Amino acid sequence: MPTSPSEPLPYDLAVVGAGPAGLAAAVTAAELGLRCVLLDGGHSTGGQYYRHPAPGLGAARPDRLHHGWSVYAGLAERLSAAERAEFRAGHQVWALERTGDGFAVHATRGPEAADRVTLRARTVLLAAGAYERQLPFPGWTLPGVVTAGGAQAMLKAGLVLPGRRIVVAGSGPLLLAAASSLVTAGADVPAVVEATNYLGYARRPGVLAAVPAKLVEGAGHGSALLRHGVRLRPRSAVVEAHGTDRVTAVTVARLDAEWRPLPGTERRIDCDALAVGHGLLPQIDLATELGADTVTGPDGAVALKVDARLRTSVPGLWSAGETNGVGGADLAIAEGELAGHAIAGALPRAALLRRRARLRSFADVMAAAHRPGPGWTGWLRPDTDVCRCEEVPVAKVREAVEELGAGDPRTVKLLTRAGMGWCQGRMCGPAVACLSGSGEPGPDRRPFGCPVPLSQLAAGSAAAAGE
Ligand SMILES: Cc1cc2nc3c(=O)[nH]c(=O)nc-3n(C[C@H](O)[C@H](O)[C@H](O)COP(=O)(O)OP(=O)(O)OC[C@H]3O[C@@H](n4cnc5c(N)ncnc54)[C@H](O)[C@@H]3O)c2cc1C
Repeated sequence: MPTSPSEPLPYDLAVVGAGPAGLAAAVTAAELGLRCVLLDGGHSTGGQYYRHPAPGLGAARPDRLHHGWSVYAGLAERLSAAERAEFRAGHQVWALERTGDGFAVHATRGPEAADRVTLRARTVLLAAGAYERQLPFPGWTLPGVVTAGGAQAMLKAGLVLPGRRIVVAGSGPLLLAAASSLVTAGADVPAVVEATNYLGYARRPGVLAAVPAKLVEGAGHGSALLRHGVRLRPRSAVVEAHGTDRVTAVTVARLDAEWRPLPGTERRIDCDALAVGHGLLPQIDLATELGADTVTGPDGAVALKVDARLRTSVPGLWSAGETNGVGGADLAIAEGELAGHAIAGALPRAALLRRRARLRSFADVMAAAHRPGPGWTGWLRPDTDVCRCEEVPVAKVREAVEELGAGDPRTVKLLTRAGMGWCQGRMCGPAVACLSGSGEPGPDRRPFGCPVPLSQLAAGSAAAAGE
């Protein structure tokens, strides 16, 4: 197996994730004199927000699909000019390990993750972003049902639409962004179905007034939807997707304040794709494996606990962007810059601190406004798959809880296999936690941040044993 040897070259800072947060941090720290390595599993910098078209597509104007591309272009240019920063594409970090003088960063790279790379750095910044929260409903495993972020990713990276007539549903600001991208790219979007009624925003007018750019962004999406005649259905949810080989229609129902479907309000909407997501969850398992403290946000999502300088509770480990709670690309960039300054031992600029505080307050309002209500389980049926990797239906999970006495997701997992599949519970975790009666899911704990070939682990043990 082509395993590359451990690389002894010491870095001052290893940044995991080259999205807006990691990119801003690496550039800032390198310009302040730190020797930085920036790692990302993807083929380019930019993360989810500035996701690039796949290289083979030869897209001439990637900026056409993005807002604020000039901000990204500026950061990317600074990265190329920074002599002390090095970007390593295609490096998926699967574990962070504390060593006497810092950290060992273990990553895979290459086709089928065949190569193992270990880098050593004095400090680490985790900027791994977030993944989408999925709440199951009958028909959610049908072809043509994708996540809202997945639809964005298909468009930005593959330059394709998931269908021609696409219902966008779930909850959170990503729905408006996704719907507006889809209609602008030529899709017919018959409805945006949002489980909340947006009133949560109106309760904090002072916080909204402090972030005018966010209001302008929201108005931009709103006007794109109006221009294309897209119907916004607040306080509603897709409670079933219909079809045999792929989705052909969805049933939408009105919800009460707890997200319980209101009987008699169902209506059917024909479509050939459904883009559905219920917010984002911080991707923090690399840090929680090291024992980092966490905090539960207003949306019930578990994020890393950081201090004003973005230090986690693990000495030498920092965190910026969505790993500290979901808040959008502008906040991620502000936190990246702040962390870069702090790790380099530079005093943060007061204006940057104020900007971060304003954007974080807005993120909290947004998170509270879109917190899932407990009544969503009202749209499940006994045969609805909860864990799609292991094909575990609702009835099996309920049996584990009600008849076998499981009171937490871990016991449900042991009894049913829910959460044991390829995604390691990233898809079904919130649903299983809710159905097991333990409320919100606890912090993600996974010994490996991604699947790792056994041969790599064996090679690592052999190297450690001096073979
Ligand atoms: C699927 C999806 C689509 C989204 N689309 C939009 C959108 O269209 N508009 C919008 O406003 N917001 C979108 N968001 C929200 C968006 O993520 C943020 O607002 C912003 O990009 C956050 O920046 P970040 O740097 O914190 O994280 P991200 O942009 O998510 O960047 C994190 C980076 O870390 C890398 N990474 C993660 N784990 C590892 C690892 N173990 N090893 C190596 N690399 C790793 C990822 O490949 C990624 O490039 C989306 C989120 C998701 C999950």
